Amino acid sequence: MSKETLYGWGRTSPSVSDVVSPATELEVIKDMSTAKQYIARGLGRSYGDAAQLGGGTVIDNRDLDGVGVISNDGVVTVGAGTSIDELLSFSIPQGWFVPVTPGTRQVTLGGAVAADVHGKNHHVDGSFGNHVLEMRLVTPKGAVTISPKDDAELFWATVGGMGLTGVITTVTVQMLKIESSQMLVDTERFENLDAVMSAMQSGDDAYKYSVAWVDCMTKGSSMGRAILTRGDHAKKGDNSKRLEGPKPAKLLVPFNAPSGLLNSLTIKAFNEVWFRAAPKKKLAQPQSLSAFFHPLDGVRDWNRLYGKRGFVQYQFAVPDSAGETVNKVIERLSSSGVPSFLAVLKRFGPSNDGMLSFPMPGWTLALDLPVGPSALPQVLDDLDEMVLNAGGRIYFAKDARLSHEKVRAMYPRLDEFLNVKNRVDPEGRLISDLSRRLHIGR
Ligand SMILES: Cc1cc2nc3c(=O)[nH]c(=O)nc-3n(C[C@H](O)[C@H](O)[C@H](O)COP(=O)(O)OP(=O)(O)OC[C@H]3O[C@@H](n4cnc5c(N)ncnc54)[C@H](O)[C@@H]3O)c2cc1C
Repeated sequence: MSKETLYGWGRTSPSVSDVVSPATELEVIKDMSTAKQYIARGLGRSYGDAAQLGGGTVIDNRDLDGVGVISNDGVVTVGAGTSIDELLSFSIPQGWFVPVTPGTRQVTLGGAVAADVHGKNHHVDGSFGNHVLEMRLVTPKGAVTISPKDDAELFWATVGGMGLTGVITTVTVQMLKIESSQMLVDTERFENLDAVMSAMQSGDDAYKYSVAWVDCMTKGSSMGRAILTRGDHAKKGDNSKRLEGPKPAKLLVPFNAPSGLLNSLTIKAFNEVWFRAAPKKKLAQPQSLSAFFHPLDGVRDWNRLYGKRGFVQYQFAVPDSAGETVNKVIERLSSSGVPSFLAVLKRFGPSNDGMLSFPMPGWTLALDLPVGPSALPQVLDDLDEMVLNAGGRIYFAKDARLSHEKVRAMYPRLDEFLNVKNRVDPEGRLISDLSRRLHIGR
């Protein structure tokens, strides 16, 4: 056991915990029986305080690793501490890809289930939990195998449950068959937000993957100008390459950049270069899986570019009927002088049964905001109000600052979740800094 200061990826809210690293399910059970209060942690890629517990015990899942044999129909059982990166190195050469991937491969399977992560294909395939066939979960009451059929209640409380129902030790996933390690990608630039949103609404269904990068620093008729990329896996004959796994990052940010390096001027300049570098329209361009899904993984520790103060990622979802909220949020940001890197806009398809799962049918926007500008806290509080009034919600995996009063309205199945949690954790031993702050643990 060691004492460590733990951060989320945004580096804003550190706390000190005892850290244990069990390598087997039995060791997890032992660690849970000796600790008073605990929470699991994967690769720490959630941005806020979800995977830490000040004064308690953090169960680092990374030694719970290993990948089983992939069956002929693509079913594989993976240790919860295995990263998507490790899984892909093993599965791509055999012609299998993960059914859903977030914007980085550096997340564990445990973290992917606990946050019920989504990718660029949510409008077609839903989120990670939709593809989990079964998992092993160690709760304070003992270890169980759960699936959508066996204790479906506990299964759907665990999918998106942010580690608050127990420690997942293995995950059995249905993988996706691929014929090549290339994508065929259509890229198009749009001069404002309305244009890109209507193109997504009318055209996304023709593609498996879709995402738009939106410039939140422009105003007037070019407010929310965007680059839309949409694509599908290349087939064997389509100019394809043989099946190659991901490559390690080539660049590294070795130390914290000075706070303030990323300010309105530098970010505006970056956004401009990014926008101009994109083609006005280019069709069926071959791209590697890494370039398409995980461009940020090319630079290790890029979060240090935000300096010691760190940054906030703000991600919300709103229903289709409230699409104009995306407009209002970008307007509020661009008029407040709070700098924001290119934001990521996606469409969500139907939700799954995850009680605290984030996606809802409609739109989601994710913003990277450096900590520093004095207006930032008030602007974010205002955005929370707009999202709440639109019937939307904030993503726990990205959050470091939401107040608990708003959570119940954003997550109407919270009481149902708490009932299931109470069944497996009657003494309230599974908690995290996030669950304390948002009152989602008891
Ligand atoms: C660059 C970047 C891009 C991202 N893009 C996306 C995206 O496109 N879509 C998306 O949905 N998310 C995205 N994320 C967020 C990320 O996918 C999630 O936060 C994910 O949960 C991180 O996994 P992790 O292994 O690092 O878990 P951690 O951050 O360590 O933990 C996250 C949560 O999972 C729980 N947990 C971890 N392991 C276990 C376990 N074994 N058993 C039970 N609970 C466990 C923790 O308690 C915590 O609540 C992105 C993050 C980064 C840094």
